[in-house]
Amino acid sequence: MKFTKNIEVIPGSPNTLIYDNRVVIDLGGKNSSLDINAEVQLATHGHSDHIAGLLKKANVKYLPKEDYWALTLMGRRAMIYGFSSKDSPLFTYDFIKDNLSEDFKDVEIQKIKMPGHTPGHTVYIVDSVLYAGDAFFGQKVLENFGVPFYTDFWEALNSLYKIKELIKSVDYVVIAHGPIYTNKRKMEELLDFNISFNEKLVQKVKDLITGNEMTAEEVTYRISRNRDVANILLNSVTIKSILFQVAKNIRVSEKGILFST
Ligand SMILES: [Zn+2]
Repeated sequence: MKFTKNIEVIPGSPNTLIYDNRVVIDLGGKNSSLDINAEVQLATHGHSDHIAGLLKKANVKYLPKEDYWALTLMGRRAMIYGFSSKDSPLFTYDFIKDNLSEDFKDVEIQKIKMPGHTPGHTVYIVDSVLYAGDAFFGQKVLENFGVPFYTDFWEALNSLYKIKELIKSVDYVVIAHGPIYTNKRKMEELLDFNISFNEKLVQKVKDLITGNEMTAEEVTYRISRNRDVANILLNSVTIKSILFQVAKNIRVSEKGILFST
């Protein structure tokens, strides 16, 4: 889909932004197979579905330094699931090589840190388009998982409030997983939906542990829509981040760590 004369977004998960056939942001998923010979390949963060571009030939390849855990399979698993387990069939991931730029300067690209989803998560502004990566998600994505994936939920929520301000200075906003709208108003509504979804999530967690001791996995089970093993692992990362701030009492029992308020 065309945004400006020079900006095109190729739908996918992630949606991939191409500027002037020169700059590509978040090449991954099914878009990995696209034949784009761009001189600049940028990733918003190190998750395996966003870094295929970094495997390509390019003058500049940029992954935020804080996300260099993504250089190894073990690092990516550890950052997503909290651990790795070498031959477990639960994990199916690709591999990238360590040949990335420490930093890059390009007068046409502005990069802004929006941590939370990962430690280094970065958004880019190119030609009046804000590419927000996984800072926020499509409504269906949120509803299917029940919990957004945030390594630090509170940092992520802060980033959302910052993006709400940042949006005022651009004409278009694109996210990695969700619908593509050229109507900025719709993206502002989606951002607001994400913010209130997250605020409600905090309330749900508080309600579950009020006068009631629960483990993070029990809370995660109650809140998750999709209850397969991998999804419970993923969702429990965000839930733990919420619990450690909202629980007034945290103690260890034979069931594990118990949270209550
Ligand atoms: Zn991600």
